[in-house]
Order: sequence, then structure tokens, then C-alpha cells
Amino acid sequence: MKIRVDDIKEQPRVLRSEEPLETFPGLVAVQDAGECGFLSPVTVELAVAREYDHIRVKGNLKTRIRLNCSRCLGDFEADLASVFTMFYRKEDRVAFDEEEVELAEEDLISIAYQGDEIDFAPEIAEQVIMELPLKPLCQESCRGLCPTCGVDLNEAECTCAGSSFSLKFSALKDFKVDK
Ligand SMILES: [Zn+2]
Ligand SMILES: [Zn+2]
Repeated sequence: MKIRVDDIKEQPRVLRSEEPLETFPGLVAVQDAGECGFLSPVTVELAVAREYDHIRVKGNLKTRIRLNCSRCLGDFEADLASVFTMFYRKEDRVAFDEEEVELAEEDLISIAYQGDEIDFAPEIAEQVIMELPLKPLCQESCRGLCPTCGVDLNEAECTCAGSSFSLKFSALKDFKVDK
């Protein structure tokens, strides 16, 4: 996902593509480390426009991943999506005051570029990594493993001393929240 700086005008230009994982060495490393598995290419849409002294890139991305639940240790699949705005400035101007307007629920990133071409791949990989949960849960109500006997409490009850705790959880299980 590269663009020549000369091709960026005030009128936003939209770039759309499905990028294979190999485009993002940072994500290949995450996958190799076993943190998550990427099950689909990364679908990226960027609107690139020149603005004052910088280049504004509004983007969104999505992909499908496989994670390992931090409670029950089971694998599960999830959609990963991110909406972000990035500002690119020519490297010698980065010292400028950074007074960005805070946009709700969006990540604002300021990046320096050199030369006459911008490669968006490193920042896109960064966005994906920021969206990875620190403590993945297969479901919000995952009951995890019994710390005593190791049984998966989502699938079976056990009779360990801690079972009063799990009884409390089974009562909660019937409590449904409308989203
Ligand atoms: Zn789980
Ligand atoms: Zn148990």
C-alpha cells in the first residue's frame, strides 16, 4: 500500500485493497509468536488527501483472526476492525506543534515520511496490533477452567471446593443482557 506523494491532491483519493499477511512483516511476527492467527487477508480502505502542511489519511481495516481464550484456553475466531486517522508530515517538519483535534473513538497517529513515496503498511500493521486484546475471551461470560481440577466449566460442572463460586456463575449464565 504505497502512494507517490506527488499523486496526493486536496481531493481525497481512495485506495482499497486486500493485503496478504506477507505485506506486513510485523503481523507475520505476531503470528509466528503464537499471539494470534490471521485467517483472512487484511481489507484496507484509505482516503488520502493533502491538507495544509500535511497529508491526512482516514482509514479503516478489517480481518478475521483466531485467538486463544485467556480463561478456558480454547481457540476461537473473531473479527478485528479498526477506524483510524493518520497524519503524515515530511520529516523536517515534524518538530511543529502537534495540536490535533481529538476525534471521538478514533486513533490519531502522526508519522514522519521521507522521500517521494509513502508506504502505509507499517502503520496499518500497528493498527491491527493495537486492536489485539490483551486478555482474549471466547465470550464475555466464559467461565474458564476450574483452578483445582482443570475441568472446562463451560462444558461441565465439577465438585471441587470452589464449586460455590461456579454455582454463582451458573446463576449469572441465565441472566441475559440486551445489546
Ligand atoms: Zn473461554
Ligand atoms: Zn474442579
